[in-house]
Amino acid sequence: MPDSSESDLIDGRTLSQAVRDDVQSEIEAWTSDDHRPPFLSAVLVGDNPASEAYVRGKEKDAAEVGIETETHHLDADTSQEGLLDLVYDLNADPSVDGILVQLPLTDNINEQTIIDAVDPSKDVDGFHPENLGRLMRGNPRYIPATPYGIMEMLSRSDIDPEGMDAVIVGRSNIVGKPLANLLLRRTANATVTVCHSRTRDLAAHTRRADLLVAAAGQAAFIDGTMVKEGAVVIDVGINRVEDSSADRGYRLVGDVDSEDVRPRAARITPVPGGVGLMTRAMLLKNTLTAARLRAT
Ligand code: NAD
Repeated sequence: MPDSSESDLIDGRTLSQAVRDDVQSEIEAWTSDDHRPPFLSAVLVGDNPASEAYVRGKEKDAAEVGIETETHHLDADTSQEGLLDLVYDLNADPSVDGILVQLPLTDNINEQTIIDAVDPSKDVDGFHPENLGRLMRGNPRYIPATPYGIMEMLSRSDIDPEGMDAVIVGRSNIVGKPLANLLLRRTANATVTVCHSRTRDLAAHTRRADLLVAAAGQAAFIDGTMVKEGAVVIDVGINRVEDSSADRGYRLVGDVDSEDVRPRAARITPVPGGVGLMTRAMLLKNTLTAARLRAT
């Protein structure tokens, strides 16, 4: 793993801890001001081990900053109607500030239908069309945690995207598209290109990037030849690659071949220890926003 004390590394550990510390002190001020602690309700369907681990991590993160949580763990054979009923109950429950439905859902449930059913004022993931629409219009309420975390990383690292050619590789609704909107806002003022699996000559785009964001889910596929000298490189990818020397039999790598790219990049985020940690911290920030919204 790279040494996080090196100045070219954008250290997600330190930056995300700073976000958590801020959220924790804001919650302390909030509760000492006679408000109850923020309350997050998580919904988990089925027994996907990765999802279970994510939800456990979110519960732990929340507890550390003073957010209360509950988790509804539904069986894998839960119907779409059954899940919708739970979502409607949580929407109507005044003690619930934020609702998080852990994705992916089981095959018999349409994710879009569930996302659309969550009360947009409790949608701490920021996936509801109303929240995505507000983001696109430039007055966001909840920003999806990964792109939000990337923007926070940039600002806390004194990297100003204004005037930069920003190239995002990946056009998903949870990373690429919302990030493109955030970078386009008048608060960021980057010039944005979004590439995807059908982009012709990807490297021609990435080589122009002052700010390169890799969010394609392809292990180490951005190499040094695809990166401009002096670029800022944000690696969103989290990919498992087999590694018999690792205890778990695999290790996590990003979308960027960090050994090859790091000598060319001015700044780069590591995997692990980068964007993933910021994503976790921003969910906490969104939950505090939810509590404030509920109280108004
Ligand atoms: P996705 O599968 O929904 O989207 C991937 C995107 O990459 C698609 O738009 C596709 O067109 C594009 N793509 C795929 N292969 C490509 C290629 N060879 N060239 C160019 N574009 C290509 O994925 P997602 O949910 O946006 O996640 C992307 C990656 O980021 C995954 O590795 C995921 O695990 C990771 N991720 C990390 C965090 C975090 O907190 N760090 C959060 C979300 C996702």
